[in-house]
Amino acid sequence: MKALLALTLSTVAFAAAAQDFPSKPITFVVPFAAGGPTDTVARQLAETMRKHLNNATIVVENAAGAGGTIGANKVARAAPDGHTLLVWHIGMAATPALYRKMPYKPLEDFEYLGIINDVPMTLVGKPQLPANTYRDFENYIRANQGKLNLGHAGLGSASHLCGLMWQYAVKLDKSMATIAYRGTAPAMNDLIGGTIDVMCDQTTNTTQQIEGGRIKAFAVTTAKPLSDHPTLKHYPTLQEMGLKDFNLTIWHGMYAPKGTPAPVIKKINDALQASLKDPDFIKKQAALGAIVVKDKRVTPEGHKAFVTDQTNKLKTVIEAAGQYAD
Ligand code: ASP
Repeated sequence: MKALLALTLSTVAFAAAAQDFPSKPITFVVPFAAGGPTDTVARQLAETMRKHLNNATIVVENAAGAGGTIGANKVARAAPDGHTLLVWHIGMAATPALYRKMPYKPLEDFEYLGIINDVPMTLVGKPQLPANTYRDFENYIRANQGKLNLGHAGLGSASHLCGLMWQYAVKLDKSMATIAYRGTAPAMNDLIGGTIDVMCDQTTNTTQQIEGGRIKAFAVTTAKPLSDHPTLKHYPTLQEMGLKDFNLTIWHGMYAPKGTPAPVIKKINDALQASLKDPDFIKKQAALGAIVVKDKRVTPEGHKAFVTDQTNKLKTVIEAAGQYAD
């Protein structure tokens, strides 16, 4: 009887939690610095998603460090009520291979809410680099081994992963010195200023800088050229430049702490799916080279299946490169 009463009460509380949701401001935790590519995706999404959540206030909190794992850990440990959500990229699947000790279990400690977008990366350099084409760039890097550095957003970040994969693919005798930032927003400032030489970063951060002539771009990391984008269509893929099978696309997803009630998950996923159909959001993302997801990865099940697959694939790539973050 007692057990039945407890069950009934918890079912009532559960239903009430969903009905009231959101009952206070929602926080999107971005595990990188403000102004960078993940932050840009989260802020554009927050602006759209609030319209589908009774005009709730959505605050973006930047909890940077350790390649994104600090922010992710924060969400894994937050109250499972749907008011604290994580917006993170491919690092969700890359960090388990890059870090041999993780503070949380990526496939067990979260509720998966849906994938947001796919984002190409670009290989870019400081404006003072003498090269103007990918070929000249690769030759220049080869001729200056040991003298140049590569900026990234922390060990385990997408820019770190891309830098590792590119150096592995071009087979440099000596890997570049790397400089870790708390996100690629501060790294971009140093690239523009010439303090760092090279970076591989998402188009959501590089497109406007390339268009403004503040940095040089040499190649895109996708398998196919970005023919539909007015600026990015001018750059070759790394495959076209001879790096066989090089293909790296970043995706962003949204996560809640494990144990968030199913009706709350449904409300968030409905709002997310509605946002992914919003023409203004799609247009803003497209201008930055990002493609808003339309396939089954927008569902919690599809999202989790995709991340599981990516985790396995990236493990193979990272182990082959023999590189670790710790
Ligand atoms: N683009 C960064 C990365 O390399 C992350 C960021 O600053 O949003 O992972």
